[in-house]
Amino acid sequence: MNIILFGPPGAGKGTQADILVKFYELHKVSTGDLLRDEIKNNTDVGNKIKLLMDRGELVPDDIINNLITKILSKKKFDNRLIFDGYPRNLNQAKKLDLLLKEYKQRISSVFSLEVNRESIIKRVIGRQICSSCGLIFNKYYRPAISKNHTCDPKYLNKRSDDNESTIINRFETWSDKTLPILNYYKQQNLLHQINGMGEINEIFEKIHVIIASLEA
Ligand code: ADP
Repeated sequence: MNIILFGPPGAGKGTQADILVKFYELHKVSTGDLLRDEIKNNTDVGNKIKLLMDRGELVPDDIINNLITKILSKKKFDNRLIFDGYPRNLNQAKKLDLLLKEYKQRISSVFSLEVNRESIIKRVIGRQICSSCGLIFNKYYRPAISKNHTCDPKYLNKRSDDNESTIINRFETWSDKTLPILNYYKQQNLLHQINGMGEINEIFEKIHVIIASLEA
């Protein structure tokens, strides 16, 4: 199965993707993470990406399409993909359909995590990511403590685009460019809308029940 996790920044896509990856042995494709890797390489493209990311704007489609093509062409990921933060506009969604067709695959379901604007801002501003194990925490809602995190707290980092001014732009970019994709997947009967305001495990359970019903 190939899944898309859809939702505004801070909706919990990354958190749910990590749980689903473990549970169903999937491979996570987060274009945000792939772009951050590119930035670390300090290339010209990386610098251009950083500038756009820090402004809360989308990175050009050709950069994204190249990253995705590299992944889809790998046989070992066949039917085991979970997309987090991709596609981000209608053009990317249509390109993904073409690529999937080429590699004889399809999307099984799209889960849209719905969270209101105020919560998003708090979630994003409080977000901390462990650079050692990759786990995601939140200073306000889900702090890293010895029970849920074994790495040294010095590894907990904030993303450079997780600040108040950038998040407002990111939310606007999402409403303008990304939200219209919902209808695209609705028309294909792939869309499942999930209340993303509950507990992490509750949200996972809702997704799990839907996947089980689709597989039955
Ligand atoms: P969030 O979902 O919290 O915004 P991401 O890590 O998914 O975080 O994305 C961070 C930034 O990376 C975005 O604001 C955007 O600049 C860029 N980005 C990520 N994925 C894409 C994509 N598919 N297309 C264009 N830009 C992207």
